Amino acid sequence: MPYLPEAKTEALKAIPGAARLLAAVRDRPGTYLVGGAVRDLMLGFAQFDFDIVVEGEAAELADHLVTEIGGRSRKHDRFHTATFYSEVDALSVDIATARTETYARPGALPEVIPSDLQHDLVRRDFTVNAMALSIWHERLGELEEFPDASADLAARVLRVTHDKSFIDDPTRLFRLLRYGARLGFAAEPHTEDLARAAVEAGAPSTVSGGRLGSELVVLLAERAALVAIDSMYALGLDRAIHPNFHADEYVAARVLSNLPDGVRQELLLLALCARSMDEDSAKPWLRDLGLNHKDAAIVLEGITNAELVADALSEDGSPAEHASVLRKYQPETLCLASGLPSTPPGLASLMREWLGDRSQGRLEISGADLREAGVSEGPAIGKALSSTLDATLNGEVNGRQEQLDHALRIVREERETV
Ligand code: ATP
Repeated sequence: MPYLPEAKTEALKAIPGAARLLAAVRDRPGTYLVGGAVRDLMLGFAQFDFDIVVEGEAAELADHLVTEIGGRSRKHDRFHTATFYSEVDALSVDIATARTETYARPGALPEVIPSDLQHDLVRRDFTVNAMALSIWHERLGELEEFPDASADLAARVLRVTHDKSFIDDPTRLFRLLRYGARLGFAAEPHTEDLARAAVEAGAPSTVSGGRLGSELVVLLAERAALVAIDSMYALGLDRAIHPNFHADEYVAARVLSNLPDGVRQELLLLALCARSMDEDSAKPWLRDLGLNHKDAAIVLEGITNAELVADALSEDGSPAEHASVLRKYQPETLCLASGLPSTPPGLASLMREWLGDRSQGRLEISGADLREAGVSEGPAIGKALSSTLDATLNGEVNGRQEQLDHALRIVREERETV
């Protein structure tokens, strides 16, 4: 078996926590670093998650690490997996028993049978993820791989380990685009043909909404999401997810070119691609994807409202008038609205400015300040704060003291008119 170049083994040892991990498994043959960790180590990345496969029980290795290093573990006996975490160096290790997987039907969760390393490599998504590095002392740095894995890594290609891969598990279609976007690797031609055939055969519809949703969300959260959007369109994976889900590269490029802080890129892009859905079909679809209530509400607002924001604004309105419209929306909705071709450039800039400085929508005083100044609970507080915000946005009031004075004056006026 080949060995990893000495410099790479040294690079592994230099990763925070690695020395303690290697010391803890030094006398434990059958312990391997696998998957993305080996791939990234070979690519020269200095940081990655420790993914370990063990020819034995994952839970038993987790217990051993707790004894040797301290820290804590969590075991998932049903899946033969465990996690280990030590606060020193924030060392986090995912451990899995080497396994073979079988699929009762396409798209189903696999049935897991403990096995050896060779089977564990075959069941992986792409050859570049099907490499394992021995990490026990006697064989530290010895590399085992699925045939041609390191050659594929050097050629920067993504190749499935067998022809039924995308049919067995169509979430790998999303993973193909994810690694393509993240690493800049291309699908090898036969793999690309298999991916296209799987999409045409409707493979994505065999996967549960929740699994599909998690893969879609992590894909859209990638830094190079624009590449992912482009390849989703090229593969037809967008339409395969839902007939009204369109990977719109043009609008995506406009919104991603200057993403404001605090905007959740994956939620923005979900709304962007799903914006031709109506509310009645979007709601159950988002629920099916397994989004939590809050995230689903953000996406739904983008889908149903992005087109309407520009209509509610006028370019010659006052800052307070603009603010009264803009503050009704989530940043993701405004960001999407600013990128729509139908939004006039002047209004798009207005939205961008607002997103860039959302503090302009904030007051330095709150209801608590008014109560402290003797104002009793009631609707007058809301009215006073809202009027103070408008005055601040129009530049008539500056700073905390002037805001407080203005708000108290409004409360007095309110009382006088009652
Ligand atoms: P990385 O590959 O960088 O670890 P990640 O952390 O997003 O990316 P995970 O989803 O945690 O990847 O998967 C870790 C490894 O498990 C992958 O490298 C791959 O070998 C394997 N894997 C994960 N999901 C699948 C799948 N659906 N089919 C086959 N192999 C998979």
